[in-house]
Amino acid sequence: MRKECNIIGDLLPLYTEKMVCKDTEDFVKEHLETCEECRKAYEQMSKSGSQTETEKRDGTAKKNEAAPLLNLKRKLRKQKIMTVVCTCLFVIALLVSAIAALTAPVYVPYDEELFTITEHADESITITFDERVTDYVCSSDAHIGWEGVAPCYEIEAWSTLWDKWFGRNEARFVVIDKVTGEDFSVYYVSNDGSENKCIYGEPITSGGVITLPRLVLGNYFLLAVLCTAVLFIVWLITRKNEPVRTWITRILLYPVSYCIGHVIVMGFRPSSYSAQRDFLFIVFLSVVIYGGVMLGRSVYRERKEIKEITGK
Ligand SMILES: [Zn+2]
Repeated sequence: MRKECNIIGDLLPLYTEKMVCKDTEDFVKEHLETCEECRKAYEQMSKSGSQTETEKRDGTAKKNEAAPLLNLKRKLRKQKIMTVVCTCLFVIALLVSAIAALTAPVYVPYDEELFTITEHADESITITFDERVTDYVCSSDAHIGWEGVAPCYEIEAWSTLWDKWFGRNEARFVVIDKVTGEDFSVYYVSNDGSENKCIYGEPITSGGVITLPRLVLGNYFLLAVLCTAVLFIVWLITRKNEPVRTWITRILLYPVSYCIGHVIVMGFRPSSYSAQRDFLFIVFLSVVIYGGVMLGRSVYRERKEIKEITGK
């Protein structure tokens, strides 16, 4: 019986983890029914999960037989979850990119048929756009309400791929009230580098006014590239210091993700007329990309570890 007990002893960790074939399972079960000593060992093992009676007794820190198996099981489960999350992040990044592209404003340049202006008896006006325009903003300058300074409004109008493809053709119009009793002027901003067009009231300047694209995103992009370069140099220098290097890698991946986000949203354009919107998209995308890359890294590492354990 002693020899069989030894064999059972070897098999118990696997048996406890249900990692044995049917025949082995039957064999162990049969033995446990007849052998008191092995049954105790089995009960102990399934209770504590990993520690065996003997090890507890002599208190050695020697690695348990079952520990790597438990570890492996845990790792496999973790790997599965991380792979799923990674895939989800990838899909989210793809969706956000698509939404960013579909809703990017395509500004409608000025032409005379773009809108009609109706003047009302109370001196307010209504500007009605034609069907090329699906959205607009009307912003007023800082001088609204200043005595002696004529208020000035700026209108930008655009359409998006989404609106073009999925049709939103209701007529768009904007009503501008006479606020201060002062005459006001309205400019149309084409956002294509051409001069802003005074479409109502007296021009506020004798010369032309051009609304420039916001360069701020280009600056952020350059900053991200610079950070990447500096961190990369630090990464090269710290080749021998593994913990520092791990941290540098973690930090380094963010500016890289930001650059990728920028290129996805903006292409290689440095400037934007809708900088705020584009910036939000870039930041959101870069966070998703960063999460995906970090997860991908650990999935790769875990896979390597699992390979080492299983020897495959
Ligand atoms: Zn036995």
